[in-house]
Amino acid sequence: MKKIVIASSNKHKVSEISAKIQPFFNHILSLEDFPQIGEIIEDGNTIEENSFKKSRASFDHTKIASIADDTVLEVDALNGDPGLFTARYAGVNATNDENIKKLLYNLKSAENSARTARFRTIISYVDGINDFSVEGRIEGEILKSKKGTGGFGYDPIFYFNDFKMSLAEMKPELKNEVSHRGMAIKKFILKIKNIY
Ligand code: IMP
Repeated sequence: MKKIVIASSNKHKVSEISAKIQPFFNHILSLEDFPQIGEIIEDGNTIEENSFKKSRASFDHTKIASIADDTVLEVDALNGDPGLFTARYAGVNATNDENIKKLLYNLKSAENSARTARFRTIISYVDGINDFSVEGRIEGEILKSKKGTGGFGYDPIFYFNDFKMSLAEMKPELKNEVSHRGMAIKKFILKIKNIY
């Protein structure tokens, strides 16, 4: 029986990933099924390290193949910030709005050409034999004010070059398909088809 653990307890994330990988696994679990694992500290120096910290910790405890995903927003004018601090840019318990406010403030004097940015998602997979990671990314720029009402996180201020609109203006199904996370999941599925 093909089993996998999604090393996250974020219900939204678990259901988005589960829906896409469900044809390839008989049994999909998450960290909610293993409360004894506790919090996994993401203190790596790169997004790849942090992603593997979660998938490895999950595999070590469960001995079941495990995946984890991690996303960062990199803004060129800020030398790649918020980067590893994407989720907590304005502080540990910062809201999406507070993070957006801080980013817009730090970019207030940036030229349009320097507002280029990208979302990168790394999905890592650990089963003790075929460990690997894949990356999905999208390119865009940081708008000067919010546009659109959908999505979450930095969606209203991220202008997606390929679709000529902000992520918050996109239909959720389309965004999930073509986003950084959607692309990483597609690459993950291609790899997993070769393993199983
Ligand atoms: P995580 O690694 O998936 O938890 O993402 C880290 C942070 O990146 C989140 O807390 C959000 O602020 C931001 N983020 C991740 N994915 C997206 C997205 O699709 N749109 C906007 N913000 C995102």
